[in-house]
Amino acid sequence: MPIREGFIKPELYPFGKTLYLCPMLSIQTFTFNAFSENTYVVSDETHEAVIIDPGCYSREEQKELDSFIEEKGLKVKLILNTHCHIDHVLGNNFVKEKYKAPLLLHKIEEAQLRAVKNYAPVYGFDGYREAEADQFIDEKDVIAFGNTKWKILFLPGHSPGHVGFYDEKEKVIFSGDVLFEHSIGRTDLPGGNFDTLIRSIHQNLFTLPDDVVVCCGHGPSTTIGEEKISNPFCALSLLR
Ligand SMILES: [Zn+2]
Ligand SMILES: [Zn+2]
Repeated sequence: MPIREGFIKPELYPFGKTLYLCPMLSIQTFTFNAFSENTYVVSDETHEAVIIDPGCYSREEQKELDSFIEEKGLKVKLILNTHCHIDHVLGNNFVKEKYKAPLLLHKIEEAQLRAVKNYAPVYGFDGYREAEADQFIDEKDVIAFGNTKWKILFLPGHSPGHVGFYDEKEKVIFSGDVLFEHSIGRTDLPGGNFDTLIRSIHQNLFTLPDDVVVCCGHGPSTTIGEEKISNPFCALSLLR
C-alpha cells in the first residue's frame, strides 16, 4: 500500500515527529506517560490548534508540550478526548488550565472520566487531577477551529463512548485506541466489547477511502487501506 505523497511515517522521522500531510494541516505527535500514549497537537494555517488526548503527566512532558505550542505560536481552541482511559486524560487538567480551552468528549465517556481518579493511584499517578468536560459531542456535531472542520465518528468497542475525529478534506483520522497498525484496541476493560469494536472498524473506518491516514492512540500511524489488507484482527469473518 503506497503511502500518500507528503505523508511521512513518524518512525522514519525521528526528530520532532511532525507530519505535514499537506500545507493546510500540521500534526505534531508526542508520546507521553508510562503507557506510551500518543498526544496530538493539530493546527492549520491560521495557527489555531486542538490538542487530542493530552497524556502529559510529568513536569518534563508538560514542558515539552507547552514549549512546542509557544514556539509555534499556536492558539489552542479545543481539547478533545477520543475516550477517557487514564493514559489519554492525564494531561486534561494541565492543558485546560494552561490554555483556557474547553474539553470536549462524548457523554457516554463521562463515567470513564469520573472513574480515573479512583484507579489513578493504583497505576502510580498520585498527582492526577480531574478536569470536567465542558461540552459533550456526538456524530451530529462538527469540530471547528481555524479553517478546519472535522466530522465526529462514533467508534465504540474499546470504550463505550469512543469517538474519532475525521478530516475528510485532508484525509486523516484521529481514532484513539480503536485501530492500530496491524492491531486493534483491547476490549477487556470496563465497557469494552469485541464484537462492537470489530463492527466499529468495519462499518465506520473501513468505509473511509483507502488513503486516509490513521493517527493512532499508540504506536505509529497507518492507513485504512494498509489495515484492510494486513490487519490480522479485522478479517471479515470476525464480523458477527
Ligand atoms: Zn484506551
Ligand atoms: Zn490508550
